[in-house]
Amino acid sequence: MKPCKPILLFQVWMVIFSIAGITQNKFLTETNITRTLNRPVVALSQIADTLMNKDEEFTFSKDQLENILNERKAVPFILGKTNENRNIEAWFFPGTSIKKALVIGGVHGSELSSIEVAEILISNLMRREKPYYNVIIIPGLFPDNAYTAKENQKEIGSTANLGRYGISSPADPNRQMPSPGKPFYEEYGKDHFEREIDPENKLLLKLIAIYHPDRIASIHAIRNISKAGIFADPRTDNNSIALGFETDSMLAIEMSRLIRNNNGHVPGNFLNGRPTALYYKDPVPVEKGKFQKRNFSGTILPQNRGSGVSLGTWASTAISSETDPAYNRKAMRILTIEFPGYKRPVDYKTASQQKHIRKLLKLYASSIENIFLEKYLVEGYQDERLPASEFSYCLPDNPDML
Ligand SMILES: [Zn+2]
Repeated sequence: MKPCKPILLFQVWMVIFSIAGITQNKFLTETNITRTLNRPVVALSQIADTLMNKDEEFTFSKDQLENILNERKAVPFILGKTNENRNIEAWFFPGTSIKKALVIGGVHGSELSSIEVAEILISNLMRREKPYYNVIIIPGLFPDNAYTAKENQKEIGSTANLGRYGISSPADPNRQMPSPGKPFYEEYGKDHFEREIDPENKLLLKLIAIYHPDRIASIHAIRNISKAGIFADPRTDNNSIALGFETDSMLAIEMSRLIRNNNGHVPGNFLNGRPTALYYKDPVPVEKGKFQKRNFSGTILPQNRGSGVSLGTWASTAISSETDPAYNRKAMRILTIEFPGYKRPVDYKTASQQKHIRKLLKLYASSIENIFLEKYLVEGYQDERLPASEFSYCLPDNPDML
């Protein structure tokens, strides 16, 4: 490991804060926000009041989002409402560059640990200097589904998978994207198989269309913990011709290494053998210039609910249309993070299990904070490559301190 850079200072403070119990991963209340930040933050309820028309279905407007981005202040905001009238919350944190990242937790409501990773990340970003990337974090995209999962605590992590699918949802929440290479049309609102997209995913797609992130991390969790790790989708042009997987893969592997080097659990990346950023169910990435196959069929379910286009496939495919050039965009870099196990610390029986999971949650959040949101393999920058020596980060030598 290289000599420590200034980032070590933040790490030390993070450790002190976490020892003091400040980084407990509860969702931050307004009081916590004002107490822990030394700059003014718009209170969540205040935003809710100003942005929301309580009589109508709520969705944020382009102007509202642009105002938040232009103000360049750390701020929580509401993307919209669910069918059961819950808020879909998001946070914006300004970065030191013009580059933009998006982090999403809880696409599958049953994967409660994924929401905790995002909440720890938010908590950490609130008490440190700006990261390199500007970032919007949606800690739980499907709060209704997460509520269902929490209501049935004994079933969390079981094959019942309560909360993975919405009650009236036509498809798996991660299989509701438009066709690869095609834009999301808000008025149309249908996916690749012409099924109505859930309101939560419509808000996400609208956010992506306005915000234009350079990179996305979608946090999931996986029941089979031997498959846990950090994975990337190969980027392609709008005709599914591969653009080269190397840098996407390198970014995922670097994040995975940070976790492994601190005794975390990322077996799906095979860091001790031939490291890979390929999710075990996905087609093998082909070399640049060749046709990239995609996986359109997820879990086998009645009415084909498990099939469709995933966020990974849709986001990593460029959009180019002569008829709708306004919708054109590059292929986005997208990582899928699979945390080991669905349960939160509180769902484990023994104190040592809880401690172990708490440490893993912090390590996964740290990999996003210290690699994904920092200046590594920046899109469009020097062919997106930095020499290997640039991959350095400092973490406490004693992993128990994390
Ligand atoms: Zn998932």
